[in-house]
Amino acid sequence: MKTIMVDMDNVITDGSFKKYIEEFFDISFELDDLTEYAYVQEMTKADVKGFWNYVKNKNFYTDAPLLDGCFEVLKKLKEKYDVYIVTSYLWNETIDISGNNLSNKYYYLQKMLPFIKPEKYIFTTNKDLLNFDIRIDDRINNLNGATTKLLFTAWHNRSIPTNELKEKNIVRVNNWKDIEKVLLNNN
Ligand SMILES: [Mg+2]
Repeated sequence: MKTIMVDMDNVITDGSFKKYIEEFFDISFELDDLTEYAYVQEMTKADVKGFWNYVKNKNFYTDAPLLDGCFEVLKKLKEKYDVYIVTSYLWNETIDISGNNLSNKYYYLQKMLPFIKPEKYIFTTNKDLLNFDIRIDDRINNLNGATTKLLFTAWHNRSIPTNELKEKNIVRVNNWKDIEKVLLNNN
């Protein structure tokens, strides 16, 4: 059975950061209008300290929906592949209470994707340490080493040109339906 690494943030869910930024700064914005990967840092720079103090004990996954199709497609993938969810949980700004974030991620995954056992969660900041046949992530750097590399489209990676992806043997997937097509329909 081939192994798959599935990233969590911006692949399984976008989390609640956007909501908290909007609440704290009393603004409204769309992720699609952004270009920077580090949008949280960008959008909170007017009052970094105040913002992190505001979210310090909040759950970054409260009321965060799964991205469209994630539940159904992951369930199907699990029948054919050995699926792992690999995610970082450290935020430099709240590193001393990162255990809370790990816990929130753990319970979010259990609640939202109950068919994936906790044994299949890997919490790490260094995905390079691991080997997988297939990797799905919104960051190119996290796709290294896999035979099948799927870049999940997010606001921060839309401008990466197709030829660059081709050179690196990376296939872009815009949503979970695309993942289904690549990993289930063509094999
Ligand atoms: Mg991610």
